[in-house]
Amino acid sequence: MENLDPLLVTRRTTIREALARLDETGQGILLLVDGAGLLQRTVTDGDIRRLILVGASLSDTLDSLPAKQSITLASGSPTSSALELMDRHLIDHVPQVDVDGRPCGLIMRRELNVPILLSTPHLGDQERDFVEEAFRTNWVAPLGPNVDAFERELADHVNVGHAAAVSSGTAAIHLGLILLGVGRGDTVFCSSLTFVASANPILYQGATPVFIDSDPESWNMSTTALKRALEDAARRNKLPRAVVVVNLYGQSADMAPILELCNAYQVPVLEDAAESLGATYKGRASGTWGKIGVYSFNGNKIITTSGGGMLVAQDAGLVEQARFLATQARDPAPWYLHSSMGFNYRMSNILAGIGRGQLRVLEQRVSARRAIFEHYRHALEGIPGLGWMPEATFGRSTRWLSVCMLNREACGLNPGELIAALAKHNIEARHVWNPMHRQPLFAHCSYYPHQEGYSFSDIAFAHGLCLPSGSNLSSDQIERVSSTIRRILGQVPNAK
Ligand SMILES: *Cc1c(COP(=O)(O)O)cnc(C)c1O
Repeated sequence: MENLDPLLVTRRTTIREALARLDETGQGILLLVDGAGLLQRTVTDGDIRRLILVGASLSDTLDSLPAKQSITLASGSPTSSALELMDRHLIDHVPQVDVDGRPCGLIMRRELNVPILLSTPHLGDQERDFVEEAFRTNWVAPLGPNVDAFERELADHVNVGHAAAVSSGTAAIHLGLILLGVGRGDTVFCSSLTFVASANPILYQGATPVFIDSDPESWNMSTTALKRALEDAARRNKLPRAVVVVNLYGQSADMAPILELCNAYQVPVLEDAAESLGATYKGRASGTWGKIGVYSFNGNKIITTSGGGMLVAQDAGLVEQARFLATQARDPAPWYLHSSMGFNYRMSNILAGIGRGQLRVLEQRVSARRAIFEHYRHALEGIPGLGWMPEATFGRSTRWLSVCMLNREACGLNPGELIAALAKHNIEARHVWNPMHRQPLFAHCSYYPHQEGYSFSDIAFAHGLCLPSGSNLSSDQIERVSSTIRRILGQVPNAK
């Protein structure tokens, strides 16, 4: 699958051409093949230097290279055997060959050493201090001063009235739906193009989701689909109890028209901003537009507490009620008294300490993720059939993940094929979320596409690909991902 053509030379190739190819491809190695395309040997810079030292000129061919038995690996061999082979022979490259002996891949040590993952935790300098303080004062048990401070600091940061720290984003969505009165037999509208955690809490409440497509401009809830769904629901006298609007991959949905529609039908909006902390919509923080907003501090999100979430709202009563439900719904009484069903959903004081440190570097993380996106866009410029998730004009996306779109006709590969090829180089890329209306779990639920006969989330899933985007990735690593993609797609490196 990987395009090796730029690396292939024959004994008729001139030394000048070979040097130019080495320069162009930047891999430090070429593959010498015979007339039948079978691998003869590898050719490195050193091999060419030795030819020149014994008197060869640039216009001579590679014919004078001595025969050599190169180390090769059968295609499909595991990474571990490639490393073992390189260690045993003190080499840094191993060509892969098919059963006939044709080169079909090239494994490089520098690419095997450090895996590049999609999005990993990136701690700052202060998390440890807050956690140590919690240890020192023995505020290790649930709740404590870090929890209170984290709630206040996050609420201030996004400029919303109140916040309740909980054990996960999913727990916050669940509490939010309860607070909006979602119960058995209700329907709840929800973005289809999202992670399953947006929709699962609807099922926890015994309600039924109705999925709404995204629009191509923001990849978030389509107002035309939402409008049709609300009109249908009103006609059937079955308006949803709530609408869960997801802000995907760091970008806000177009909240103004969504809220206008929902307000017209008096349906409250819960904003799933798990992926969009740090983003803005019309200058105001994403996650603060709905009646209730939810953030996640899962390990892969823009900031993390290793696991956690936050429910935010302008309404102090709602957030107080969330805290009450999240601590087993204990009624105020001198003994244990319960009149409603509660949950054990609060965040611990230790994890809130991590969150306080992380909040202090949030803006840096947003800048870093946006810079990574720009780096990719520049490094992969000009590849036919490769496009990008757009940034809508109404706000600032955090580019939580750098998401591209592949057109197989133009670039030769679909996302699944590129993901598999990158995995061979120890690079983790992932499919765009598989929309909820395609999940067996939700086979019984209805779905409103962007337009009749045009479902954007299906297109995003078929063509979309999330590239490694962690704010702790180095510029070299982004280069490695980009040049690997170029090589896989058969494109020469981009001139700097
Ligand atoms: C991560 C995520 C969640 C869930 O958050 P957790 O903290 O992992 O429970 C919900 N919705 C979306 C869109 C997410 O990406």
